[in-house]
Amino acid sequence: MTAALINDQIRLAARPVGAVQPTDWQRTQTPVPDLADGQVLVQTQYLSLDPAMRGWMMANPDSYMPPVPVGEVMRALGVGQVLASRHAGFPVGAHVAGLLGVQTHAVVAGQGLNRVDPNLAPLPRYLGALGMPGLSAYFALRELGLPEAGQTVVVSGAAGAVGSLLGQLAKRQGARVIGVAGGPDKVRHVVDELGFDACIDYHHDDLPSALRTLAPQGVDVFYDGVGGALLEAVLDRLALHARVVLVGAISQYNQAGDGQGPRNYTNLLFKRGTMKGFVVGDHYGRAGEAIADLAGALARGELRTREHVVTGGLDAFAGTFDLLFTGGNHGKLVLAL
Ligand code: NAP
Repeated sequence: MTAALINDQIRLAARPVGAVQPTDWQRTQTPVPDLADGQVLVQTQYLSLDPAMRGWMMANPDSYMPPVPVGEVMRALGVGQVLASRHAGFPVGAHVAGLLGVQTHAVVAGQGLNRVDPNLAPLPRYLGALGMPGLSAYFALRELGLPEAGQTVVVSGAAGAVGSLLGQLAKRQGARVIGVAGGPDKVRHVVDELGFDACIDYHHDDLPSALRTLAPQGVDVFYDGVGGALLEAVLDRLALHARVVLVGAISQYNQAGDGQGPRNYTNLLFKRGTMKGFVVGDHYGRAGEAIADLAGALARGELRTREHVVTGGLDAFAGTFDLLFTGGNHGKLVLAL
């Protein structure tokens, strides 16, 4: 029943050195195999393009996840519709989210999928605020950093999938929230629509002096998705007992060699601060509670989110993925197949 279907795929052809090149990807077409017990055939409708995918392309023994083997279909989250099923929990026609891979048809074990309801939210949102980025923002705020009312919080990547939610959730806790984002449109959106107290345009503003002006008493909590020079600038302005939460370091992902410092890490010592890493997968056991809270807040208009959906299918995959590293996306980046 599935053998007549052809699966269009993008595989990892080579581990990139520096920025990802078109030659690091390979397009293949293969027949869809028959299903084994417990498996589900999903037609991919939307693919999630995430900065983490850049890490999954590399053989780093310290990573929280094994790398994608060269020659394999590129790993990616996605949402789609069940075309055939040998799992009672996922009938034909149901919509599901999970690790579908960069391909039009995914044969996956049912236990790796979640049912989603297109009547409750648009499907791309299950890859954003109601998916992995939403869980990242929710648990990074709840479990690490722990901002208190009146404290000053800085969020980098403030217009992005994770940062936009993190900042709004920190505002909900009563914190004063300063975003950092690239370009006037994103800065305007972060302040006027998301309700951050201020936003620094790191392309145009002088970061150290903007931080001095906006955080005269120092930064109590920094949620960082960028790393590099931005991390150093905030480390220079820590308040006493500051908490730095390393959510990501996108400025470093395309570095060919070792990443950039922080040269001034001793400020953590002087300010009795902490710096701690965050991985969302550690918190998936409590995803239900988080999604219910996020969905409620979105429905009541207390949280705002946006998806940046690109059309064009797999032909557009490589160019769309690059947007993450040039700031070309505004909101959760999703590719429609
Ligand atoms: P996103 O912010 O929606 O998109 C990426 C954004 O990063 C770009 O739009 C760009 O925004 C910014 N950027 C790219 N290159 C940059 C550079 N060199 N310097 C400064 N900013 C740069 O992506 P996201 O999905 O929300 O992810 C944000 C961060 O969180 C990433 O580091 C990601 O790896 C991390 N993350 C971690 C976890 C975890 O479990 N630890 C989970 C999800 C995401 P501007 O235009 O504002 O520069």
